[in-house]
Amino acid sequence: MKSGLLRSISWFWLVTCFWSAGAAWAAAPVTLGILAFRAKADTLARWQPTADYLAAKTGRTFVIEAMNYPELEAAVGQHRIDFILTNPSHYVMLTRRNALSSPLATLIELDNGLPLTQFGGVIFTRAERKDIASLNDLRGKTVAFPDIGSLGGYQMQAAELLHAGLSPSHDINPMMTGMPHDKAVYAVLEGRADAGFVRTGVLESLAQSGRIEPGRIVVLNRQPTPGFPFMLSTRLFPEWPFAAMPQTDERLAQEVAKALFSLRADHPAARVGRYHGWAIPTDYEPVRAMLQELRLPPYDQAPAFTWNDVLDKHWLGIALGGVAGLAIVVLSFMLAVRQRQLRGHESRRSEERRQLLAALGEGIYGVDPEGRCTFVNPTALAMLGYDPEELLGLDQHALIHHHRPDGRAYPHGQCPIYQTLHDGQVRRLDEWFFRKDGTGFPVEMTVAPMNHADMRTGAVVVFHDIRERKRLEAELQALATTDPLTGLPNRRHFLARLEQEKDRLQRHNEPPATLLMLDLDHFKLVNDSHGHAAGDAVLRRFADLLGKRLRKTDLVGRLGGEEFAILLFATHPAGAREFAEGLREQVAAEAIVFGDTRLGVTVSIGMTQLLPDDASADAALARADAALYRAKENGRNRVETFRL
Ligand code: GH3
Ligand code: MG
Ligand code: MG
Repeated sequence: MKSGLLRSISWFWLVTCFWSAGAAWAAAPVTLGILAFRAKADTLARWQPTADYLAAKTGRTFVIEAMNYPELEAAVGQHRIDFILTNPSHYVMLTRRNALSSPLATLIELDNGLPLTQFGGVIFTRAERKDIASLNDLRGKTVAFPDIGSLGGYQMQAAELLHAGLSPSHDINPMMTGMPHDKAVYAVLEGRADAGFVRTGVLESLAQSGRIEPGRIVVLNRQPTPGFPFMLSTRLFPEWPFAAMPQTDERLAQEVAKALFSLRADHPAARVGRYHGWAIPTDYEPVRAMLQELRLPPYDQAPAFTWNDVLDKHWLGIALGGVAGLAIVVLSFMLAVRQRQLRGHESRRSEERRQLLAALGEGIYGVDPEGRCTFVNPTALAMLGYDPEELLGLDQHALIHHHRPDGRAYPHGQCPIYQTLHDGQVRRLDEWFFRKDGTGFPVEMTVAPMNHADMRTGAVVVFHDIRERKRLEAELQALATTDPLTGLPNRRHFLARLEQEKDRLQRHNEPPATLLMLDLDHFKLVNDSHGHAAGDAVLRRFADLLGKRLRKTDLVGRLGGEEFAILLFATHPAGAREFAEGLREQVAAEAIVFGDTRLGVTVSIGMTQLLPDDASADAALARADAALYRAKENGRNRVETFRL
């Protein structure tokens, strides 16, 4: 017992020491490690305004370090950086070696002026090479590519070759040209290589600037790319991830994520950084699977069984075990304290222990086998607003856990604390606790059983307030469903709502609804003659106008680019047409003022009824799209209704 006590005391000292270290650290500068694949000075210049923006948003000093691959790997291994921005395959490799957490955000790149969170690889040859029509024809050919470490300039294409039954290392003759990707294109055009690999968008950008003639190149293994603007030969993969290191303060990481998500495309940080913004992190699993397939680092060696692997696979069990262990340590410690007090042996050491328990940032209380409170720490009392005598000896469920957040009663039998007392399982879950004044708040709670000689002697509950986490979750949810430029529902969210509404109308046999698809006319001209920022201003103004003209119950969304959709409820065709004509006229009549310029735009509209026998919302959208196409064909600035 004595050595157990000593162990628990040293444990608590450790915890306390970590806390004080944490406090001292709060003032230290925050370091952001960024992969520099070209000149470091360029990387620093590109990202400095983003670092300044994060500093302003978080009140901390941000330092950027531009590093090459080995430098960045060493910095991660030695915990010298707090955040990292690197390419997806490098990030996957680091995650594997250093147990990094999942990314906070994915970069929305500006590729030829278009905002994209995904990119892919292109495999191409010269148009006159009729002997090279498929991937199989690359066997024995010389293939130029920028770098073997480049995800879009080699690895994605190599994975495609593998799928087609070719070995990238044996079946082709590699020619590494170095960065930038353009060099691989010239190697092919000048006949030094038979075919080439580059990332998506490179060919279009060279063609646009007149440096190559598009007709001289053909793309192999062409993939259908609905919604993706460039030629593509491979699958699509996510853009660069921004991640926090495992040791980085969680609150700081949350603040940084929030700041990134709220960064607008017209902010100087985005403009100098040549990007559009930041998106909810994309799934990086396909990158990992591809590296494994290609046996590229970190999958280039026989798997070694490391602690990281154990943690990767069994983190939940270990975390729960750790919490249970903590709870049990706390409990044995508390019991020891109480026994000593009962025996009247109040000593200096027990006072120390009491102070340690009081200093714990988590709320902790214990219950007996009937669920009555046996001890409670000061943090729990402060969070719940009770005095000790108002809880000790009383049924905790009836006092702090009696209702669900929505006001429904919470029966004793469903209470996880009662369930743990009954089955001895450790539970970790989000719950809702009530304060003495009747107000409630969300908590994350762990319940661990206490046993003595095969008898259940009670349970320990460890909890903390998660209001901030819940708020952030709600904010992230809003960001995932909203288009950042206009604030309207984004395409995915609009389509999901449309599908729901279609099902509802069908089930309840409600009056018809009308679907409108809207597309600004010659919008590319606005961008081309007045710049992208002017185009953005027009899109925002147009979205405002839609918002003003619609009823609260109608549904509106930005489907992408300069294309919008509206669902008008309980509207017959004549009423819907009147609405659409009114909207069209108003858009044509109003000029949008941008700086010193007055921009005139018009809109074309396609309309269709949402029909009870529509198999899916897509079917209705396709009809609206066909009508919109007719409006464009018939001269634009028009409303057309779908006709067979
Ligand atoms: P049409 O009358 O046939 O619809 O011609 P259009 O020029 O409007 O159509 P097109 O589809 O060729 O061009 C759409 C343009 O919209 C191209 C793209 O650069 C621009 N665009 C897409 N998304 C955005 C955005 O978020 N902001 C800005 N400023 N432009 C965008
Ligand atoms: Mg258009
Ligand atoms: Mg369009």
